[in-house]
Amino acid sequence: MKKLTSPQRLQALMLSLKKKGKTIAFVPTMGFLHAGHLRLMAMARQKADVVVASIFVNPLQFGPQEDFSIYPRDLKADLKKLSSQAVDYVFLPKASDLYPKNFQTTVQLPLLSQDLCGLARPGHFTGVATVVLKLFHIVQPDIAIFGKKDYQQYLLICQMVRDLNLPIRIVGAPLVREKDGLAMSSRNVRLKPEERELALSLSRALFIAKKQVKKSMSSAALINVVRSEFVKNPAFQEEYVAIRDSETLAKLYHYEPRKTLIAVAVQVGKVRLIDNIVI
Ligand code: AMP
Repeated sequence: MKKLTSPQRLQALMLSLKKKGKTIAFVPTMGFLHAGHLRLMAMARQKADVVVASIFVNPLQFGPQEDFSIYPRDLKADLKKLSSQAVDYVFLPKASDLYPKNFQTTVQLPLLSQDLCGLARPGHFTGVATVVLKLFHIVQPDIAIFGKKDYQQYLLICQMVRDLNLPIRIVGAPLVREKDGLAMSSRNVRLKPEERELALSLSRALFIAKKQVKKSMSSAALINVVRSEFVKNPAFQEEYVAIRDSETLAKLYHYEPRKTLIAVAVQVGKVRLIDNIVI
């Protein structure tokens, strides 16, 4: 596995591989890798000749009060995990490589960005879209893989690719959970043991909703099912519980089989957690 930090060098290398007819699959990450990330790498390995991963904690997608400086990092462990997945290249840019002085261009998706997670995190999705478009230009992938753990992000990237006619196929990877149901996340390490236990209510609420959902049930009733699990847990600060169309993120007023996304965000102690399920 080759490590590269220079955007120019990686881009030149990728262009030369493409000239030789190689296909490229790309998995962007912020590191502190877990089994969910590695599933994305394994998918990439099956889909192209060359697999590129990136590790970059993108300052542009964190608000001033958010956890950029304490976001978990462990480069040594990450590199070991990536080489075990037969990743060919890992891109490790510095912030100053991607955002040199006087950097000013951003990518805005005003509708998708100002909904759900975007309401509590203004500027977050502009930061995401901007860094992903930059990474796409540097890596020149044929395929890029995004996890449905970050469902809104996945739809946002699909929308950007359509809007800007990017010649890239976006693949959405299923959400990977711990054995007890908690959605895997780099941020889970910041949960104290008792918070880790409480956090299980998040996935539990989604599984209960999946079990209790009935034909043409109203979204309000479905939200109540989720909330009735949340209220058992006073340590939870709910940010949102939303019932949406899983393809467009449009509001749904009634359950529609197989296309109903339940998306939730809560704060447990100092950690913000998200989860979702399509039912
Ligand atoms: P992050 O490092 O959190 O920015 O995530 C990098 C990529 O891994 C994104 O496409 C995420 O959606 C995906 N990812 C993170 N956690 C999971 C998970 N538990 N299951 C599936 N994909 C995930």
